Amino acid sequence: MRVFRTSKSLVEHLSFETRPIGMVPTMGALHQGHLSLIERAVEENKTALISIFINPTQFDDKTDLDDYPVNINEDLRLIGEISNDIIVYVPEANDVYGNIVKSEYFDLGGLDLVMEGEKREGHFQGVATVVTHFLKTFSPDHAYFGEKDFQQLLIISHITRSLKLKTKVIGCPTIRESNGLAMSSRNILLSADHKRLASKLFEGLTFAKSITKKVPYKKVKSMVIDFFENQSELKLDYFKITDPETLKEIDLEKFSHRGRGFIAAYLGKIRLIDNLDMS
Ligand code: AMP
Repeated sequence: MRVFRTSKSLVEHLSFETRPIGMVPTMGALHQGHLSLIERAVEENKTALISIFINPTQFDDKTDLDDYPVNINEDLRLIGEISNDIIVYVPEANDVYGNIVKSEYFDLGGLDLVMEGEKREGHFQGVATVVTHFLKTFSPDHAYFGEKDFQQLLIISHITRSLKLKTKVIGCPTIRESNGLAMSSRNILLSADHKRLASKLFEGLTFAKSITKKVPYKKVKSMVIDFFENQSELKLDYFKITDPETLKEIDLEKFSHRGRGFIAAYLGKIRLIDNLDMS
């Protein structure tokens, strides 16, 4: 495995590597979800490049940034278990941003104005800033992103198209714990009891899916909201079924089984998100 701390040395090195290059951007604290993306990048490319960078501009909440789990030695061990040929980029913020750590502004076609974009101000501008920077700097042929962050995946696909970047964006399925909880680096911060409660998000989504063909969306929505009424510390933030490309909410009077269900909830201070194809 080769670990690079600066983009300059990495770009130089990549010019000698064989294409296609597959990139997996991450914020570290790797789990099976990340590893599934890395395995796919290794399988489908001659060269696999993983970045580990906790991008400060995508955090709207300073405490969330301060508490974000870091485990670089374990991350490198897990990557090494997949293959010893993987290239890892672990920059400091100044290697990515220079002296001014600030987002650029992108037109994200309105995809950033709903759900996570509405709730976390500036989040997707921060994501778009760092991802486009990586894609422009390293020009990978393929870049892998999880459906766990489906809105992020759509936004990155949108921006690579509108900027005419040559990288093909590839979406990968969500990897879950056996109780259905979508794997996430932040799950480390949950107690065993909270992990059990957190699995209710997936339960809520599968419940919604089981009734989308039977009742109009208005009824699905109210039944899911009722389902979360008595879940003690788990506080539903939103549940929506949207068009899977535009993220526009489905008409309340219609049947919603062609949409995608999105859910967000708070467990104490921890924000949890999940989504599921309703068809
Ligand atoms: P993060 O480190 O949270 O920025 O995630 C890095 C990449 O891994 C993103 O493309 C995420 O969508 C993806 N990812 C995170 N959790 C999962 C999961 N449970 N299953 C599949 N992909 C995931």
